[in-house]
Amino acid sequence: MSLLVDRVTKLKPSPTLSLSSKAKAMKAAGEDVINLSVGEPDFDTPDYAKAGGIKAIEDGHTKYTAVDGMPDLKASIIEKFKRDNNLEYTPEQIVVGTGAKPLLFNAFQASVDKGDEVIIPSPYWVSYPSMVEVAGGTPVIVETTEKDGFKLTAEKLKAAITQKTKWLVLNSPSNPTGAVYSQGELEAIAGVIKAHNHVYVISDDIYEYLNYTGQSYKTIAEIEPTLIHRVLTVNGVSKAYAMTGWRIGFAGGPKELMRAMSKLQSQSTSNPASISQHAALAAMNGPKEDIERMRGIFEQRRDSFINNINAIEGLSVRVPDGAFYAYINCSGAIGKTTASGKTIETDLDFADYILEDFKVAIVPGTAFGCSPYVRASYALDIETLGEAASRLKKAMQSLG
Ligand code: PLP
Repeated sequence: MSLLVDRVTKLKPSPTLSLSSKAKAMKAAGEDVINLSVGEPDFDTPDYAKAGGIKAIEDGHTKYTAVDGMPDLKASIIEKFKRDNNLEYTPEQIVVGTGAKPLLFNAFQASVDKGDEVIIPSPYWVSYPSMVEVAGGTPVIVETTEKDGFKLTAEKLKAAITQKTKWLVLNSPSNPTGAVYSQGELEAIAGVIKAHNHVYVISDDIYEYLNYTGQSYKTIAEIEPTLIHRVLTVNGVSKAYAMTGWRIGFAGGPKELMRAMSKLQSQSTSNPASISQHAALAAMNGPKEDIERMRGIFEQRRDSFINNINAIEGLSVRVPDGAFYAYINCSGAIGKTTASGKTIETDLDFADYILEDFKVAIVPGTAFGCSPYVRASYALDIETLGEAASRLKKAMQSLG
């Protein structure tokens, strides 16, 4: 009898995290690697958030808290949902977790059984299908196209819904494409969901503040308030406040689901770290200028990086409207031969070639269920991004 169970043996380790580790190992070995595979802001956590954590330690807030989050942090989250998204929640409808990731994981654990289907538009964040599989469910991948801005249409959604559909997962701004759904697009999707009473929606809004559309951000429960009892809205401080290591995420949703997620949390991680909760509270109650400053810098980097990439023959990229990723079409490299005689057959080959021969780490689109593309993060300073683009240009010019 083997030690491990099937559902874990089959689980793929996060390809983005493993690529990032490979790039870090090469860097540690002295190689001049530019790591465009990272999934976190390069900025430091704002001082007022750090101060909240330090004060929590000094004041002795170092004990267990309520499993689903401290009441004052929940109050700030409720205020945030009301202020930014026009969503009204009571404290029982909020769960604070150790990042957005475990909240998503627990939501699937609480609600997905064998045979249940979860609709996930591709390209998708790598963890969604794996989380659904671990819960015993079936991910139903619905392909979107570059032409549609990598966004799910109402028609494709309608065609994918069956009696077994439990969830639709929406992620806007998207990792990996940076696509942001407009109000009209969300209205069309909400219309389909409304007509299918058994379908629930996860709205993963973790990149909400990194929105370059010039339009105010919209989330589905705000667009269609009658759906509030069928939507789990997930967010957190990781990307908004450059606090990925602190591990604080939060979610608002129907009471029954939130109670179940909290119960799972009570039997697994218990409360998220008390010190991190205090830091998150300070971040959320702090001045908003830092958020706008970081957003502005990301937008400048985006403009410069996208221009540089689109000037390279054989590569092209849609201008991403949010987050900090460029989803680069590398079909111009497929079928070509490298200087060392290898043929590039897939985006995996292309990412390998770029890392091995030009020391730039990018993530192959295969990981996100949409090829031939590579995802490059622009959470790096403009000079380094410029150097990365010139290496990519050389890489393309060297193909025969
Ligand atoms: N959702 C998406 C789309 C993400 O890209 C990430 C992190 O990369 C997360 C959720 C997880 O966020 P957290 O660090 O808060 O767990």
